[in-house]
Formats: sequence, C-alpha cells, structure tokens
Amino acid sequence: MSERVCDFCKSEETHNNPVISGNNVCICKNCVIASYKILFGESDFNPYVDTESIKEFEENITLLPPKELKIILDEYVIGQDKAKKVFSVAVYNHYKRIMQNIEDDDTEIAKSNILLIGPTGSGKTLMAQTLARFLNIPIAICDATSLTEAGYVGEDVENILTRLIQEANGDVQKAQKGIVFIDEIDKISRLSENRSITRDVSGEGVQQALLKIIEGSVVNVPPKGGRKHPNQDFIQIDTKNILFICAGAFDGLKDIIEKRIGGNTLGFNNCINSIQRSGTILEYVEPDDLVNFGLIPELIGRLHMVATLQDIDKEAMMNILQKPKNALVKQYQKLFALDGVQLTFKLEALEEIANLAIERKTGARGLRAIMEDVMLDIMYELPELKEYEVVITKEVILKKAKPMLVKHKKTNKKSA
Ligand code: ADP
Repeated sequence: MSERVCDFCKSEETHNNPVISGNNVCICKNCVIASYKILFGESDFNPYVDTESIKEFEENITLLPPKELKIILDEYVIGQDKAKKVFSVAVYNHYKRIMQNIEDDDTEIAKSNILLIGPTGSGKTLMAQTLARFLNIPIAICDATSLTEAGYVGEDVENILTRLIQEANGDVQKAQKGIVFIDEIDKISRLSENRSITRDVSGEGVQQALLKIIEGSVVNVPPKGGRKHPNQDFIQIDTKNILFICAGAFDGLKDIIEKRIGGNTLGFNNCINSIQRSGTILEYVEPDDLVNFGLIPELIGRLHMVATLQDIDKEAMMNILQKPKNALVKQYQKLFALDGVQLTFKLEALEEIANLAIERKTGARGLRAIMEDVMLDIMYELPELKEYEVVITKEVILKKAKPMLVKHKKTNKKSA
C-alpha cells in the first residue's frame, strides 16, 4: 500500500495527521491548520472544538432538576437517601455548569467531583450507571487498583480517558463532558495493605497522576490504551469538564473517625457508641480523616462533594430483591413468564436469601449469585413446568429442596 505524503511539508500520513488528496496534490491536516491561521489569524482557531458536535451533544443532554434525578435513582437504588441527594445535586450542578455559556460571563463555576464512601455492594457504581444512562452521557468505570505510576508494570492513569473516549464511540467532544467513575480509590492510598511495590514506591505516584487529570488539564492519551511510547499518535482530551466520581469502601476509616471524635471529646464514649449503633459514623468523615487514611490532601481537595453509603441490612436486601425496576425477583418472574410459568417467592424464602447475602459480606452484590445458584435446577426443568405455578419456599433456599408446584387453573391470569 502506498503511503500518502503531504506535498507541502513532505510528512507521511498518520492517524493524527491525515492527508487529504486532490487532483495530483496532497495536503496534511497540520498544513491545513497552518494555512487557516495564515489566512484568518490564530485567535479564534481551536482544532479540538467542533462547535456543531458540541451543540448537538448538549441538546441531547436532558438536564433534570435534582429532585427528578433523585426520583430516577429511587427507582433503581434502594435506601442510601443522603448519598442519592448529594449525587443528584452534584450531577445537576455539573451539567448546568458545562451548559452555561462561559464566554458570556467572567464567573466560571468550579467543578465539583464526588467521593463516595461506602461498603462494597452498597450501590455506589449502580448510582453512577443509572444517572449516566438516563442523561445519555458516556461513562467509563474503572478500577484504581489496576493503575500504576508511569514506568511501573500495569495500566497508565491516562488509560481511564481512553476508555471514556471508547464509551463515547470515539467522539472526543462527547467524552470531554462525560463521567469517569474510579472504584476502589481507597486501595491506592499510601497506607493501603494492598499497595504493591510494583505499582509505585511511596504509594503516592498514582494519586499524583490521578490528581493531574482530575484537576482539569489537556492530556495526551494513546487511542488504543496500553503504555505510552514515543513513536505513538496521541489524542488530546481536555479533562476540565469531565465529572470524576471516586468511590471506595475505606475499610478502617471508621476507626480513624472514632479515634478523632473520641480524642477530641474526653469521656464521650457514649456518644461514639450511639453513633456506632446507628451505623452512621462514616457521615462524620472530615478531610483530615482521609489524609490519615492515606489519601493526599491535594486529591481530597479536588473531591468536593463527599457522600457516604450505609451497609445494606436485611430489610434493604429484601427490598433490593423485590422493589427496583429491574429487581432480581421481577427479572426471574419475567423469564419464567416467557415459558408460561408463574413464579412466586414466599417471604420466608426471600428472608433466607437476604441472610445468605449478609453472611457473604459482599453487600447486595451477593444476591445475584445466590439466586442463580438456587434457580439453576428449576430453570433446567422450566420448559416442562408449563401449566404450574412454581413456589419458592425457605427449604428451596436452605436445603436445595424442590419447589412447590401448584397446578394452574385454566382461568388463571398471569400474575406479576
Ligand atoms: P459498589 O457499592 O461496590 O459499587 P454496586 O453498585 O456495583 O456496588 O452494586 C452491585 C450490585 O448490587 C448492583 O448491580 C445492584 O444489583 C446491587 N445493589 C447494591 N446496592 C444496591 C442498592 N442500594 N439498591 C439496589 N441494588 C443495589
């Protein structure tokens, strides 16, 4: 295949510098830009801003007020009211901010990134995913544990942005207004037990690298991810308008908060006990606690909105099984209905599923695995159960007993 070469500067065509060919003449992107600047001046030229595409994208964002955002969250996320409120307000402010015409006004509103603190499987990722889906915004979900400081074995921090561009189907303009969700942020803290010396020595390198992109800067990212190397083409992406949501379980943070509260208020152990009992100690988190946990103050300073999530208790587990729009029970019922079989869960069965999930200590995440395990044998025989109602009892969950089968009457309507 013949390489195309620019007739003006003689450079070969690359991904970042494509060549346009005319009648026996070729010109590369860089020379087109240079000619534009010669003809029209530099001031209003920005090759990375495609105003048409931005306009179209902004028109497609549905900016809902915080109350409506929370109503959407309520349909999918059980409990976690405070966190949902913080989240709705932060997302609303963020999109209001990027949709304001900054040129009209000198007052630029600073962006507010979010820090979600809560146990695993309590709905942190779910919240971000739910809103991104409704707002039609690209979202990249990544895990901080795989990130390493440049030069060490692992993934460069910039790869997060590559993923966001991929989520935006390669549209950098769209990606520049997207959401980046970084899970397990607590695992890159200086004091984390999981910290490995193959990542960085001090434990701060990854945090510093993250800080750079969270602060808002123009970053060169490799289009296909992977390690950066000198002979590579890069895509430039401005992170100024990207909403960063960092999340983590922060095991051990409760002790740090307790110690601070206890230390400051001699003889107030009763106060701590009552906070502990109500399970809300995380709500008292202050930036200093996060510094003590091992996050660098600069990074904490960039995560303005802090929301804490509660442990999922038995009642919440039962609600998660039944109430969200895509609740597991509803999903299985639909799956069974497609085979003409009615599926009913006894309350006692749901209680046992919730108990098992609590034992596993993986929050509500454990529910699906438990359900799949329980339902496997029944699903295997599903096509033969056409004229039955399948009732899942406590014994099915605890002893792997067969479910109760109740013969349908012909007049029976399909029930939910
Ligand atoms: P994490 O807090 O670790 O990010 P996720 O948000 O990924 O947890 O939750 C894992 C799964 O558990 C979700 O996909 C969802 O099915 C369920 N889940 C967790 N918390 C909730 C909740 N509060 N309401 C509804 N479902 C939840």
